[in-house]
Amino acid sequence: MKIAVIGSTHAGTAAVTNMANMYPEAEITVYEKNDNVSFLSCGLALYVGGVVEDPQGLFYSSPEQLRSLGVTMKMQHAVQEIDTACKQIKALNLVTGEEVSDSYDKLVMSTGSWPIIPPIDGIKLDNILLAKNFNQANTIIEKSRDVKHVTVVGAGYIGVELVEAFQQAGKKVTLIDGVDRILNKYLDQEFTDQVEKAFIDRGVELRLGETVTRFEGENTVEAVVTNAGRVETDLVIMCVGFRPNTELLKGKVDMLPNGAIKVDDYMRTSDSDILAAGDCCAVKYNPTGKAAYIPLATNAVRMGTLVARNLMEPVMKNVGTQGTSGLHIYDLNMASTGLTETSAQAAGIHVKSVTISEKHRPEFMPTAEDVLLKVSYLPESRKIIGAQVLSKADVTQSINTLSVCIQTGMTIDELGFVDFFFQPHFNQPWNFLNKAGLAAAETRKPELV
Ligand SMILES: Cc1cc2nc3c(=O)[nH]c(=O)nc-3n(C[C@H](O)[C@H](O)[C@H](O)COP(=O)(O)OP(=O)(O)OC[C@H]3O[C@@H](n4cnc5c(N)ncnc54)[C@H](O)[C@@H]3O)c2cc1C
Repeated sequence: MKIAVIGSTHAGTAAVTNMANMYPEAEITVYEKNDNVSFLSCGLALYVGGVVEDPQGLFYSSPEQLRSLGVTMKMQHAVQEIDTACKQIKALNLVTGEEVSDSYDKLVMSTGSWPIIPPIDGIKLDNILLAKNFNQANTIIEKSRDVKHVTVVGAGYIGVELVEAFQQAGKKVTLIDGVDRILNKYLDQEFTDQVEKAFIDRGVELRLGETVTRFEGENTVEAVVTNAGRVETDLVIMCVGFRPNTELLKGKVDMLPNGAIKVDDYMRTSDSDILAAGDCCAVKYNPTGKAAYIPLATNAVRMGTLVARNLMEPVMKNVGTQGTSGLHIYDLNMASTGLTETSAQAAGIHVKSVTISEKHRPEFMPTAEDVLLKVSYLPESRKIIGAQVLSKADVTQSINTLSVCIQTGMTIDELGFVDFFFQPHFNQPWNFLNKAGLAAAETRKPELV
């Protein structure tokens, strides 16, 4: 059995390590165009900000480690063609320029994603950078060392993490986004207001609701022009989202309109000999029950592992995702799962929400921090559909609990009476998750007869 794997960051590395253990007799070959595997992009902003000093800590595997499992590692090899009818691939050795051909019985597609580069005038100027892989992280560090003013375009979680890193490194920082609030895909306004305030208090310039129309400069970027003004700057980081890397299979397997490969519950594409995992795929999004594009490392490692389990026959189903994510900006801890009110509205789904605002533990303790929790549910079935939390205390694990509630179809009323522990170091006698359930039940009191 010949297995070819294209791409080995999170999805690929998870698939390869599991397949090497499960099928020791298989001939596994990995094609990876980079010179490394398993780079944790989640540490990129921390590396740029100097929190992570030793970049080796940002890798949890290596080509040598995978070779020691009996895998053939074709590093710095870019796959350029896949002939799905003849089950052949062609790759280019990026070091020697040599072309390599290979055949496969099963193909694992884990080619991930690439940052979107919008076709804006001047986008090719020097010092307009992307933030995805290890080489780009090193370029950002090198180019930002002596600059004064950094502009980040895109206020998603990667953009805001970089803004924090540059501000803490003493740079003047501008954050631009076409939408009028930051993190608008993950959190509703009452949450993002607090994070925006944290940036403004530290002197970060927020230019929200502004669209970049062009970049100016001779060879190197000197200014960003928006529909509302002009910002002189020395360095720009583009963080406006990702697109799946799936050109190789275009027209050969089913995809969403954005090019994300459609997989079934067992990670099989519409070609029975090709399985796919990670950022190159769509995922089953439980809050809507539809396929969605949610590029996260968490989805990638689970899907990669499922590829190995289901390679020969469908044995383990993907339970889908809630797009659960967490973020730490300055002293604020926040996390969200499933739909926000904003995203529900955009999807045309009517939701009701309860908001709990209280101290995370009794006020007799030396410290007690404010917690803001919002849980959204479907008015008819009363099933929980999304949740968000923000606090200076780290209560983000509560969002993982609510992710389980969404996945298992729990109602908001059931949440009111779930057994959670109480201990004054950690929480209140009535856990704030219970309180959300009880508050929702308040709205439907039985009539006295
Ligand atoms: C700055 C940043 C921070 C992030 N933080 C988080 C976080 O905190 N939590 C979280 O869950 N997610 C986070 N993510 C998202 C996460 O990094 C991605 O979801 C994850 O990397 C996806 O893994 P993947 O293996 O599917 O794809 P990728 O990481 O995109 O890897 C794909 C691999 O395929 C290779 N490849 C592509 N085409 C070819 C080809 N033709 N031939 C050979 N090789 C090829 C690429 O070189 C690459 O190594 C972050 C992303 C970024 C950029």
